[in-house]
Amino acid sequence: MSTESQVKHWHVTYNNIHNHIRKITPKIAQDFNPDLLVAIGTHSLLVFFLRGFFPARVMRTFLREITSNKTLQIQAIGLSLYEPVAGVTEDKIGEQVIRTQWLGAEAGKMLLGKRILIVDEVDDTRKTLRYALTELQKDVETELLNHPEIDRDALRASTKFGTFVVHNKNKPKLAELPEGTLYYSGEEVADVWLDYPWESINIEEHDRLAALDVQSAAA
Ligand code: 5GP
Repeated sequence: MSTESQVKHWHVTYNNIHNHIRKITPKIAQDFNPDLLVAIGTHSLLVFFLRGFFPARVMRTFLREITSNKTLQIQAIGLSLYEPVAGVTEDKIGEQVIRTQWLGAEAGKMLLGKRILIVDEVDDTRKTLRYALTELQKDVETELLNHPEIDRDALRASTKFGTFVVHNKNKPKLAELPEGTLYYSGEEVADVWLDYPWESINIEEHDRLAALDVQSAAA
């Protein structure tokens, strides 16, 4: 039996994702009111996978609507935990997170004093989110060294991190988020393999399979 047939798949459509983001954004705007979005992507074998990019762009549309036309910047970071496995559509869990793209030399300056929402498509083991948060916090600490010591506590306190994932898998996590990090998910899901629309070659077939998934879950 192949690895593929052992894992239950669930096909997610663009509309599902859009609607989950539409529902959660007012809460995020009210509780956290981000002023910078950092989307996580993956750079692997010359291809850049969207992951958090599409959700971040959709969230910006809704945030703009709620916060009277405030246009948010979306920055991108590239992280990889899963290495593609030839012949199967699931990915095996990698041992560690690999940084493939970052914010550049001005990272700390860009982050300091902001409310930063990190956006990814799915929280599985939580290793990726933890890595992203701890590394971005290190950039903030490095930038603080350029400021007088007397100002540092206030600047640190004014820099806040939140995270948003479209899907959170209900399973034991292998990593924890730093204390005080706000966490939002669009939908809580079982520990299945989610097939995202941007990974699909044939979107009509993908949507057909998504409708079948919904039908079989309701049966
Ligand atoms: P974590 O670090 O939480 O284990 O995993 C985060 C990353 O693993 C996700 O951003 C995604 O790239 C990949 N991943 C984990 N589970 C799934 C899944 O069910 N479907 C897809 N397409 N990617 C997944």
